[in-house]
Amino acid sequence: MKSFLLLAFNTLSIFCLNAQSPAFNFTKAEVEANLKYIASDELQGRRTASKGEQMAADFIAKAWNEYGVKSLPALNGSFQKVPFKIVQPPKDALLTIGDKTFSLKDNLLIINGSQIDQQAPIVFAGHGWVDEADGTNDYKGLDVKGKIVVTITGLPTGNTPNDVFASMKRKQELASERGAIALIEAYRMGLPWQFAQGFFKQERMDLDHDADGGARIVYGWAKEQGEGVISTKLNQTSHIAALKLVPGAEEKVYASNIVGHIEGTDEVLRNEFVLLSAHYDHVGTGKQGGAAYTPQDSIFNGTRDNGIGVVALMAAAKELAANPPKRSVLLLACTAEEMGMLGSQWFADNSPVPLDQVVFNLNTDGAGYNSTAHFNVIGKGLTNLDEDLVKAGSTVGLSMLGDPAPEQNLYERSDNISFAAKGIPAVDFAPGITAMDESVFKYYHQAADNADSIDYDYLLKFCQAYTQAAMLIANKEGKIEWTNEGSKYRR
Ligand SMILES: [Zn+2]
Repeated sequence: MKSFLLLAFNTLSIFCLNAQSPAFNFTKAEVEANLKYIASDELQGRRTASKGEQMAADFIAKAWNEYGVKSLPALNGSFQKVPFKIVQPPKDALLTIGDKTFSLKDNLLIINGSQIDQQAPIVFAGHGWVDEADGTNDYKGLDVKGKIVVTITGLPTGNTPNDVFASMKRKQELASERGAIALIEAYRMGLPWQFAQGFFKQERMDLDHDADGGARIVYGWAKEQGEGVISTKLNQTSHIAALKLVPGAEEKVYASNIVGHIEGTDEVLRNEFVLLSAHYDHVGTGKQGGAAYTPQDSIFNGTRDNGIGVVALMAAAKELAANPPKRSVLLLACTAEEMGMLGSQWFADNSPVPLDQVVFNLNTDGAGYNSTAHFNVIGKGLTNLDEDLVKAGSTVGLSMLGDPAPEQNLYERSDNISFAAKGIPAVDFAPGITAMDESVFKYYHQAADNADSIDYDYLLKFCQAYTQAAMLIANKEGKIEWTNEGSKYRR
């Protein structure tokens, strides 16, 4: 009797295990082949707006079509065209306020703007921020028409790099809308001045906001010396400043986000979208990728960053197209993450579906892996989905870790931040890293990041875990929301 019961129990538990571990309709051979193409030398490191990047885009779009993924009516096909400009550093710029001079060589950075050589009154406007929701209006009572507006970098609520970078575009608009001719910000970011200077002194790529009506005033940062001539003194006195700018050349180029749609099965929940995203661009070849290459291997294949994420997104697309969940799913393979999350920013600012219907973003992007027993959720604790994410991993034998390097602010360094910044609960789902160490840096943004260095059994499990997470979330009962810990992103 006893042994019979035990036997029955064993049979039952085997049955339950089988029932719990879902069958996926993609195979190891398939995810391996996808990764080997995405990371092949033929694609030349998939630099934004390059031929190799376009080849990757075509490959992804073609696969989605074959899986039965639909395109959105608003887009007329699978691609969302993203306009960029390649900007050369300014040839000359000089700002003089009283006896203080700011020059490109030392303490002035010009980020945007057309040619100018003009004297104008200067007005201090706090952080240059307006937020109707909380009553902030740094322009209250100020007439800035025809003037140079001076502000402090970042937001009234903080000056982390993300506060600074995410507010730049809006701040230029706010000054431009009020008729200012230039916006100069006193540099107060927690990154050394030399770092910012180094970044803006090189050729760089930026979104071309001519295409969506963004501001074109002169915009720059100035490094204060001594007791802050900019922010303190200007508060009390009005000044005349002289501003001169000879900008560098600009070239317009285009790249694409790839967007797919899987309609949900539930009559009500299908009006909500779960957004699955992964960037498919990487940094290119040779000097474009940094110093870490040799004449023998000068292609930055980006197998880990972010070939793995692309392949996981493709796997989820195939599974969900065959077995649609209750909520609708948006698939987004984005361009220009390596240029500063520009593709996802463009998508968030020019979304082909109303953003208030996007209830969650499950991004997948990573630096590599050094544990084949784990995956990481960057943003663990920020949303009410941790249990679902843990469950998704456990169905294929992977355990969930949180952020492996909180001091590196990884949450704000991938495309999930473009959506979190709009208030959409978002996390990044990354391959397993127990600690950011040599085993990760050996491949991260290195020419050595080739497809022959991947554990393909792990790749399959990772794709399964990501797909399962997407499935659970898109079928979840109840509301998806930020936790208290994540509430700073609530809008
Ligand atoms: Zn990446």
